[in-house]
Amino acid sequence: MSKLSPIWDVIIIGGGAAGFFAAIRTAEQNPNLRVLILEKASQTLGKVLISGGGRCNVTHACFEPAKLISYYPRGGNELRGAFSRYQPKDTVEWFGERNVKLKTESDGRMFPITDDSNTIANCLRDAAKEAQVRVELGASVLGVEKTPQGGFKLEIMKEAQKVFIQTKKLMFATGGDRKSQSLIQKFGHTIMPQVPSLFTFNIKDKRIHDLAGVAVEDVTVKMDGLTARGPLLVTHWGMSGPAVLRLSAWGARILFDKNYASLLTVNWLGDYKLDSALEILQRNKDWHENARKKVSAHSAFSQIPIRLWKQLVYFIGEKNWADVSKAELQKLAQELTAGEYKIQGKGQFKDEFVTCGGVSLKEVDFKTMQSRIVDGLFFGGEVLDIDGITGGFNFQAAWTTGWLAGTAMS
Ligand SMILES: Cc1cc2nc3c(=O)[nH]c(=O)nc-3n(C[C@H](O)[C@H](O)[C@H](O)COP(=O)(O)OP(=O)(O)OC[C@H]3O[C@@H](n4cnc5c(N)ncnc54)[C@H](O)[C@@H]3O)c2cc1C
Repeated sequence: MSKLSPIWDVIIIGGGAAGFFAAIRTAEQNPNLRVLILEKASQTLGKVLISGGGRCNVTHACFEPAKLISYYPRGGNELRGAFSRYQPKDTVEWFGERNVKLKTESDGRMFPITDDSNTIANCLRDAAKEAQVRVELGASVLGVEKTPQGGFKLEIMKEAQKVFIQTKKLMFATGGDRKSQSLIQKFGHTIMPQVPSLFTFNIKDKRIHDLAGVAVEDVTVKMDGLTARGPLLVTHWGMSGPAVLRLSAWGARILFDKNYASLLTVNWLGDYKLDSALEILQRNKDWHENARKKVSAHSAFSQIPIRLWKQLVYFIGEKNWADVSKAELQKLAQELTAGEYKIQGKGQFKDEFVTCGGVSLKEVDFKTMQSRIVDGLFFGGEVLDIDGITGGFNFQAAWTTGWLAGTAMS
């Protein structure tokens, strides 16, 4: 590797999704600029490679900026204008122009047709190389300061040696790295406290005991005034699935403050009201053919798997439908539409892990991703106080903010 030049036009700290997108855009727009990515790890795009269970959920097939922002518990408002400039359609085109085709799964998530995150990482690396972006691995940025000429001076640790380099424009695309956040704070920026988002709920409850793997397609979950809807999966530790992960993202700060202890209300019947559930239960009771059948023998609702049904009706005992009291029916309807479960902790969602928190969005101009405090300083990706629910939204925020920063820096 050739010696690192001491002078650059654009330096991007962080060789992740946002950093690469910004660097490629800058260099493609203005080939005269000397563009450098500094990455402290021994390889770039580490998170792209492990993302989506090794498949990389690149983006989401949602092409309406107004709808798209509803998937971001933090940052949605700020991203509205940004998505009108660069959105999932543009991401699909960007990869398509570089011979990477994306496919859409039934829930809207988009993956490379190869189902291999290497396809995405290699595409980004090739595009950076093509655009003559220099990538320096094992280069950890320890300090940054503004120079009297208006640029920036960086202190880097590379192969156990300190190196000083300068740049006219500087971008932080450092993800959730805490040390980098303290460098940003020195410029006067506010860092919103970092807490995990997108996690599963630990729930020990006999109603879901031993049901790991049981899934219900359409469930509404509520907690602390927040609501989410979608599939729910029972796990060894409690509950997961899109409905729970969405709720965890919206409730990330609340749950953190409550030390991950709260009350979860589960409507196993999606949007059924108690009265409609009761009506169906009453019809089951009144139906003559059911009179001598055990309540636990068949689920009265096709959407509730029999294993779950048996545990939800356990309190009724081995009674036949004919012998079930009105009060028991009422209780069962309540159980089905508003069962209460104690959240006793959080688990990790292995497919995707993000933190909320980061650079305060008020201090960034979302047309350019430039700091409103320091001229020539830019931000992109997870370093910002933006996070989306699971489904490709986090990468889309990285592509969009990276592209906007790259456009402005060029
Ligand atoms: C297991 C997992 C799976 C995921 N799956 C998905 C998915 O399928 N779809 C989706 O949308 N999102 C997914 N996410 C979230 C997504 O990966 C992130 O939102 C995205 O990677 C953020 O990109 P970024 O470029 O902002 O930050 P990062 O990818 O975190 O990159 C930041 C880079 O900066 C480097 N760095 C930090 N500080 C310094 C420094 N001082 N000097 C030099 N280098 C530095 C880091 O080493 C890192 O390489 C997943 C996350 C995880 C952990």
